[in-house]
Amino acid sequence: METSYKNPGWNTDNSYSHLPEIFFTRLAPVPVQNPSIVILNEPLAEYLGLDPDYLKSEEGIQILAGNLLAEGFNPIAQAYAGHQFGYFTMLGDGRAILLCEQITPLKKRYDIQLKGSGRTPYSRGGDGRATLGPMLREYIISESMNALGIPTTRSLAVVSTGELVFRETILPGAILTRIADSHIRVGTFQYAAILGTADDLRALADYSIKRHFPDIIEAEKTGNKYLSLLNEVILRQASLTAKWQLTGFIHGVMNTDNMVISGETIDYGPCAFMDTYEPKTVFSSIDTFGRYAYSNQPKIAKWNLGRFAETLQPLINKNEELAFEQIHEALSGFDKIYNHYWLLGMREKLGIFSEEHTDKALIDDLLNLMHKYNADYTNTFRALTLDRFENTAFFDSGEFSAWHSKWKERLSSQQESEDDSRQLMKKSNPSVIPRNHRVEEALESAVRENDFSVMKQLLEVLSSPYTYDAEHDEFSRLPKATSGPYRTFCGT
Ligand code: AMP
Ligand code: MG
Repeated sequence: METSYKNPGWNTDNSYSHLPEIFFTRLAPVPVQNPSIVILNEPLAEYLGLDPDYLKSEEGIQILAGNLLAEGFNPIAQAYAGHQFGYFTMLGDGRAILLCEQITPLKKRYDIQLKGSGRTPYSRGGDGRATLGPMLREYIISESMNALGIPTTRSLAVVSTGELVFRETILPGAILTRIADSHIRVGTFQYAAILGTADDLRALADYSIKRHFPDIIEAEKTGNKYLSLLNEVILRQASLTAKWQLTGFIHGVMNTDNMVISGETIDYGPCAFMDTYEPKTVFSSIDTFGRYAYSNQPKIAKWNLGRFAETLQPLINKNEELAFEQIHEALSGFDKIYNHYWLLGMREKLGIFSEEHTDKALIDDLLNLMHKYNADYTNTFRALTLDRFENTAFFDSGEFSAWHSKWKERLSSQQESEDDSRQLMKKSNPSVIPRNHRVEEALESAVRENDFSVMKQLLEVLSSPYTYDAEHDEFSRLPKATSGPYRTFCGT
């Protein structure tokens, strides 16, 4: 095909493919019949240094569909393993291809990956494909997470393939272009530790340090850089999990292959945001025992980090006993870091600038009342931010009014004005989140009726979640009471 764009903006590298060969298989995406663009994230394209008009052109669409490779691409499927619901499995990109790494105008490096791009040697029984609904769902939720300020992979585009995909029903096929700091998972380290040689494992660890934590190299010329790697990943994951808890985000499938060492949220399968505050909330239809319930997320993150730490043991210290002592100490830091970020975030949500030892009890009292009265998580903080309370059993209760007085007393004990507190709360409490009923409504119109306007309006509102205006008011409304709990399905 003739290149119509002189400078589409590609500035590629393929550093991952210089790792030992066990880490990947070289192969191109499987072409699709009749691709067309469903949605393109123009601001993200520009940030990456890519020309949005080029991506929307015939050539761009062929690239986003995996039918054409741009110069400088070196496509691979990555190998990894993982604990899925606690059980170890060999995995790998069964329906994804890493096209290249793009170096942005600001000199940041991102993986550009197609998801739904056809079978690979890691597909096991799967068809390597993805369907339109779940890819648009990933687009909406990942972009919303980014706007909320939560580290996440991002979505550059969704193309429909013009092909049908066979699931429980026949569905339209689609491919998502996913952008990530990298796709190095805890499961990639598990794969290296089990299938690789000592040199393979070291190569992966050194590569990860160079790519994500270059400061370690300078600081650790004489120290233990692999222990530092562990500590850095613990720090990022503890901070990330705290952000999930603070916004009521439930990942739904926190398997070790779905946890990346860069600390971004990845793999939007059965995830969803909690409406009513209920710590036991589970959305995923396959999470029968509630392993990945809201309140379990910090524990599971720590468990996954334990699996990560085990893989690093031979690098941290050849003496097993000493290595385990060092690892144990590092892992025990998780709780401290997590609690620090969580408490800090909760104080901000309540407009508190200073630290008092009674703050934790004040926060817990509020959460307990929210639980008792089945209050909506996001909208409770929204009401506190606006100082506007609807007539609900919760807000009308004497218990809430007693709590409210204690809280106001706490606020007036600080030097900052009430207005300062309100500004802090507005920055810390989203006025809108991707409510399940809104996401479903947008997907329904898109997939069933080919009408993308509902989704685009939702994306627009979600792009400024900390704005408090009439339109955001409308999108903060709760769904009408439904008959059963919301359920999400993954891997579709
Ligand atoms: P996930 O639950 O999306 O994290 O996927 C778990 C594993 O299953 C990964 O190795 C995926 O690549 C693989 N997988 C999911 N869906 C498919 C599919 N349709 N075809 C092939 N592999 C798949
Ligand atoms: Mg996955």
